[in-house]
Amino acid sequence: MDFRTRQKKLRDHLATTRFDGLLVSHLPNIRYLCGFTGSAGLLLVEQGGSVFLTDVRYDIQAHQEVKGAKVVIAHKAPLAALGDFLAKRRKRSRGLTIGLESDHFTISERKRLSQIVPSGVRVKDAPPIVERSRMVKDLREIALIKDAVALGAGIFDRGLEVLRAGVKEVEVAAEMELAARRGGAEEMSFPTIVAAGARSALPHGRASTQPIPSGAFVVCDFGVILSGYCSDQTRTVWVGSVPKDARRSYEAVREAQQVAIEAVRPGIAVGEVDAAARKVLKKAGLGRHFTHSTGHGVGLEIHESPRVAAGQSEVLMPGMVITIEPGVYFPGKWGVRIEDMVAVTAGGCEVLTPTSKELLAV
Ligand code: ZN
Ligand code: ZN
Repeated sequence: MDFRTRQKKLRDHLATTRFDGLLVSHLPNIRYLCGFTGSAGLLLVEQGGSVFLTDVRYDIQAHQEVKGAKVVIAHKAPLAALGDFLAKRRKRSRGLTIGLESDHFTISERKRLSQIVPSGVRVKDAPPIVERSRMVKDLREIALIKDAVALGAGIFDRGLEVLRAGVKEVEVAAEMELAARRGGAEEMSFPTIVAAGARSALPHGRASTQPIPSGAFVVCDFGVILSGYCSDQTRTVWVGSVPKDARRSYEAVREAQQVAIEAVRPGIAVGEVDAAARKVLKKAGLGRHFTHSTGHGVGLEIHESPRVAAGQSEVLMPGMVITIEPGVYFPGKWGVRIEDMVAVTAGGCEVLTPTSKELLAV
């Protein structure tokens, strides 16, 4: 990963703002900018250079991983260490305005920061600068995302080997998660969703100990983290022989998903992609059953910008990776969702998820 180029881009951007530096506290942003994968640290990026502060637990790891920043190992919390660092170079710090990642700073951390920052240093809320930069993935990131998507798709195949009436939802999830770990996943992107029957109407129904009934939809929504990058995929299968109304709901969602994928191209606002999916479901009389947004960005985090939702004006650019995941939900009855990951290309998009979307009855 070209961490120095990423930091340079950030510096170039900061030069156009009122901020002299950015205090990066959100761990995925830290990883993106300097490569550190641990769970505690702060990265201060300034025009003159960057400093990464962490505690003694990460002494070896930080020196191995961090690129493009001076590593400071503290025998105290990173925030307190930052206070010491700024105080030590008090003269140089005077008059500086440091931006805070306000979306990721708690009220108590903010209070603590105001106590430790030496006088003469201003601390101000900064917009999500690094998140914006992370929206567009470079070729290396796209390759890593493709690896994660391939592993993620593979664990669904494993789930299908055990998914049948009478098997508990958690048993299916367990087999999928075991396959993920065996395939090298660091962890799951989120708790695996296997939701059968009436539970499939819960858009975020985590796998429960309920046995899968026959004559039911099963929504499986899952993802793995591989080399730091997330996958996210949903498939819905039917258990038993498929009744007409179930097939109708499924095919409407499938069409909505396809139409939305076809709308994905550089220059289009994400709100229009959402509208494309919504229009199909409205026409099928299912508009009010599509209760969530069409998708979201994916990368180092499972949910990133842009949000592919009604009215959102963010414009797609080549290199962005988003999900397309319309669904319909009938409370107490069933739900259907189909989700792929797509990468925006110069000419449109590439669907990354390889799994078939034919209605599968098991
Ligand atoms: Zn998902
Ligand atoms: Zn998703």
